[in-house]
Amino acid sequence: MKLLIADDDATSRTMLMMLSRQWGFDPVMAEDGLTAWRAMQVEEAPSMLLLDWEMPGLNGIELCQKIRAKFIDSPPYIILLTSRNRVEDVVAGLDQGANDYIAKPFENAELHARIRVGQRLLQMQSELHAAYANLEYRASHDDLTGLYNRRAIYDGVGVEQARAARQDEAFCIALCDVDFFKQVNDTHGHAAGDQVLIEVANRLCDTLRPYDLIGRYGGEEFMIVLSTSRSQICSLFERLRNHIASVPFRVDGVSLNITVSTGICIIDPHQSSLSVDELVALADKALYKAKSDGRNCTMLISGNNQDQTDCCTERL
Ligand code: GH3
Ligand code: MG
Ligand code: MG
Ligand code: MG
Repeated sequence: MKLLIADDDATSRTMLMMLSRQWGFDPVMAEDGLTAWRAMQVEEAPSMLLLDWEMPGLNGIELCQKIRAKFIDSPPYIILLTSRNRVEDVVAGLDQGANDYIAKPFENAELHARIRVGQRLLQMQSELHAAYANLEYRASHDDLTGLYNRRAIYDGVGVEQARAARQDEAFCIALCDVDFFKQVNDTHGHAAGDQVLIEVANRLCDTLRPYDLIGRYGGEEFMIVLSTSRSQICSLFERLRNHIASVPFRVDGVSLNITVSTGICIIDPHQSSLSVDELVALADKALYKAKSDGRNCTMLISGNNQDQTDCCTERL
């Protein structure tokens, strides 16, 4: 573990460096506050800091304040080391963001014990971060396929739409539904159905670009949100339909022919004032048409305001 030691006194520095090595740390040395601040700008910055109070450039207190302002998500543990030992100084040091305070001269064993307290706190902090990241992932992803869930993909729509407007590209929301999926469940069992959904998700991810949004919208229905030129959108979705229909799925040693029907609502972001819900409703309308038109096909519908009178679908 990296331990930042910032002290302008060479003797203290050497002593602390030797002690920290003895305690199994990897010391990062700084002879003044600015050097210490620079040492905190690297990718894997030290998380345990021993800061002297009086230093040229930036003093320990100023350094504490700057570090607290910058490292908000994973704050390092800061121990102030100083010959100031009046109560007002201790209070000021802790108020400015130090976690602990030790007056010089100190007992080595006491410093080591205080560092261990800090290590326990940092450990808890990192476990909390991991738990939070895990919760965040689970709240935004579908368990079965690992794709975004419905809420997460809805959240992404506005961002993608704004990006399309900035780059003057066409924007689309597509709903892609597995054809006759109930039959897969009924014939081969629910577990086989799950395998099919996972494989559909994989093939969607293979065909689309890493920055396109793909989510599981509901049971056997997927939502895709992307922006590019209109002709690219058409060719992308044709490729996608083919990639699913042309190679049979192998599930538990059985070969299954799976197809999908897709409804795409496409807009020029400068010419549409429809809400996300309205765009999704249009994509759903196009999907319904794709189903009634025989399935294994893709229907396009415009969500531009001036095209709203007829709202006709067009088969790719
Ligand atoms: P269509 O071509 O009209 O879309 O017909 P379909 O059979 O695909 O559509 P329907 O809505 O009748 O059936 C969808 C089925 O998907 C019903 C439901 O039990 C099943 N399903 C929904 N979620 C899951 C899941 O997570 N796993 C499995 N195995 N089945 C699911
Ligand atoms: Mg000093
Ligand atoms: Mg279906
Ligand atoms: Mg469905």
